Amino acid sequence: MREIVTRYIAGESARAIAEDLDARGIPTSQGATWRSTTIRGILLSPRIAGLRSHRGEVVAKAVWDPIITLEERQQVLNVQESNKTTGKRSPRSYLLSGMLRCGKCGGKLFSSPRVNERRYVCQSGPDHRGCGGIMINADKTEEWLAAAVLYRLDTADMEAVLTGQRAQDDRYTVLAEQRAQLQSKMTELTVMWTDGDISRVEWKTARDRLEGQLTGVDQQLSRLTSATALDRLVGNGEALRAGWDGMTLERQHSIVRAVLDYATIVPATVNRFDPTRIHPVWVL
Ligand SMILES: [Zn+2]
Repeated sequence: MREIVTRYIAGESARAIAEDLDARGIPTSQGATWRSTTIRGILLSPRIAGLRSHRGEVVAKAVWDPIITLEERQQVLNVQESNKTTGKRSPRSYLLSGMLRCGKCGGKLFSSPRVNERRYVCQSGPDHRGCGGIMINADKTEEWLAAAVLYRLDTADMEAVLTGQRAQDDRYTVLAEQRAQLQSKMTELTVMWTDGDISRVEWKTARDRLEGQLTGVDQQLSRLTSATALDRLVGNGEALRAGWDGMTLERQHSIVRAVLDYATIVPATVNRFDPTRIHPVWVL
C-alpha cells in the first residue's frame, strides 16, 4: 500500500501501477489480479490514513495505526484533483516527453520517430510554432539523462536538496493548517446562515471570499506535491539503476521528473551524438 501511494504521488497512473504489480506477480489481498479501480479504491480509502468514514464522509480518527500520513493523503487527493482538471493523459511512449526545450527558440521538443531512429525535434508549423531548428537522437539522450538523474540521486548535492525539502515540509504543515482553518470557517458560516444569524447575501459574500482563499492555498499545496516525491528517491540511485530496465516507462518518467525540471538542447557542432548539447536544469 505504501508503494502504491508513493508511486501515485510521484505521478504514475493507477493503471500503470496495477499493470506493474501484476507483472511482478504480486496479488491483491483477495489473491486477485489488480485493476485500476482496486488501486483507486486503496488510494482514496480514508482507512489507510487512519481515518474512519461513514457514507463517504470522514467522521473521526480511527483507533488503528495509519499506513500513510494525513499529509500523504492530502497529496493523493491533490494529485487526483489535478488529474481530473487536466484530463487523462495519453499513454507515454517517450521518456522525456515535455521535459526538453529547444536551445534556439525555447519551445518544447516533440518526439518524432523516423524509420530507424527515435528523435526529439523542435517542430515548426501551425500546431507547434517552434523554429524547427533542433533535433537530437532520443535513445542516446534518454540514456544519458537517465544516468545523470540516477547519479544525481546519490551525490552530495542532494543533501542540499533534502534540506530544501525539509523547509518545504514545514511549509506544507503551515498550508495544511491554513486549509483546515478555512474549512472550519466555512462550516461555521453555513451554521450561522442556517441559524439565521446572517443574511443570504452576507453568507454568499463571505463564502466567496473563503473559497478564493481556499483555492489559493490548494494551488500552493499542489505545487509542493510534485517536489515531495523526491524525498524517497534520494540515496537510492544505485538500486533504481539496477531495476531501471525492468521499470515501466511511466515509473521511469516520474523518477526523472522528480529530479529534472527540464533540459535545453543546444545546436549540434559535430556530426555525432554529443552530450554537451544537453543542458539540464535540476529541480530545486
Ligand atoms: Zn526551436
